[in-house]
Amino acid sequence: MDRVIVAGGGLAGVRAVEALRARGYRGALTLLSAERHRPYDRPPLSKAVLAGESDDTTVDADWDALDAGLLLGESATGLALAERGGVVASTAGDLPFDGLVIATGATPVTLPGDGHQHVLRTIDDARALRGRLTEGARVVIVGAGWIGAEVATTAAKKGCRVTVVEAADTPLANALGPELGALTAPWYAEAGVELVTGVKVAAVEHDHLALAGGARIDADEIVVGVGVRPETGWLAGSGLDVERGVLTDAAFRTAAGGVPRPDVVAVGDCAAWWSERYGRRLLVEHWDTALNAPDVAAATLLGQDAAYDAAPYFWSEQFGRMIQYAGSHAHAQRMVRRGDPADGTWAVVWLTGDRLDAILTVGRPRDLVQGRRIIAAGTPVDPARIADPQVPVRQA
Ligand code: FAD
Repeated sequence: MDRVIVAGGGLAGVRAVEALRARGYRGALTLLSAERHRPYDRPPLSKAVLAGESDDTTVDADWDALDAGLLLGESATGLALAERGGVVASTAGDLPFDGLVIATGATPVTLPGDGHQHVLRTIDDARALRGRLTEGARVVIVGAGWIGAEVATTAAKKGCRVTVVEAADTPLANALGPELGALTAPWYAEAGVELVTGVKVAAVEHDHLALAGGARIDADEIVVGVGVRPETGWLAGSGLDVERGVLTDAAFRTAAGGVPRPDVVAVGDCAAWWSERYGRRLLVEHWDTALNAPDVAAATLLGQDAAYDAAPYFWSEQFGRMIQYAGSHAHAQRMVRRGDPADGTWAVVWLTGDRLDAILTVGRPRDLVQGRRIIAAGTPVDPARIADPQVPVRQA
């Protein structure tokens, strides 16, 4: 293999470049990215960058030592696969390859309407929105998910009048379910943020949000945080198997018509990878996967044996609280509370028998670290004791 293209210059892209070199690949290496910036971290965008406490989140990579070509501000527009290798069509011309890493991430979903809607995906988005979060500005945020809650936190801190509009009956209903989501609802009021739930948005107009049913909410700025979709449009017609995300096996190997393509891997927010641990496909739109999974994708591309079997992990900082989650509770038998939410710090665990499937912590980082370790190892816990917040989370 002597010509590798990495399409997408987010965290997964830069980590793939680093991993390829670390694993001994010495051939030509090009990173192609639609953004004009060198790869940077996104989690601070809705936190320190929006708050004006930081303006540079560039990933610390030694590009000279990596000896990789950087095509910034250039997009992949198509993919033609040969029997082995192929050509990426791009705004910088055709780029032949014998190894390809697809790391084009995800793009925010937007709403109908002619009004300006801020989204928050890039550092340019964050800088543009930051300038609008002035004291007294009426900021309406659509979506009480992770991004919506973080933007509301920062906007309220900056003195904006903030309303969050959510279609479900509670915040975080999709991610955590309504019972846990409801526990976060009081945080909004505490921060002086109005939370309107169970309301569907019809359109974003230039000075207001039009709600289904005819009501309106006036706004100076409208921020839409209703989720993302994997950025895979440029793969249309390539023959690669794509559903919601590029389908891969546990080693991030793609397939075309069900036939594996070891020369094309996909990783990060754009990939729906097979998890042996959970026996199903996962599409994890979180930083930890973009950080760690590319090493496995690089190994696969170089013909080295590897598989990714990590339990998902993510965090969110909202309304002065650190929320952390590890594992997957989708198929857990039951949820057990650990501590009282009224006390400020608490956790919940999801169990199947004596197996810990997932843990969510609010202000209890030690629980998270210990729980994450147990989930990774698959060691049993004592279901009777785990509800007691005075007892450390530990294996039985
Ligand atoms: P991306 O970061 O999306 O990078 C993909 C890159 O590819 C982009 O630069 C894009 O422009 C480029 N690209 C797209 N299409 C093309 C094309 N056709 N050709 C060339 N280039 C292309 N996760 C957490 O766990 N905790 C957090 O607190 C957290 N906070 C977040 C806050 C914000 C505001 C955002 C946006 C995300 C946050 N995340 C968080 C999620 C985390 O940042 C993502 O999971 C991670 O960035 C995914 O990395 P990626 O490289 O797969 O994709």
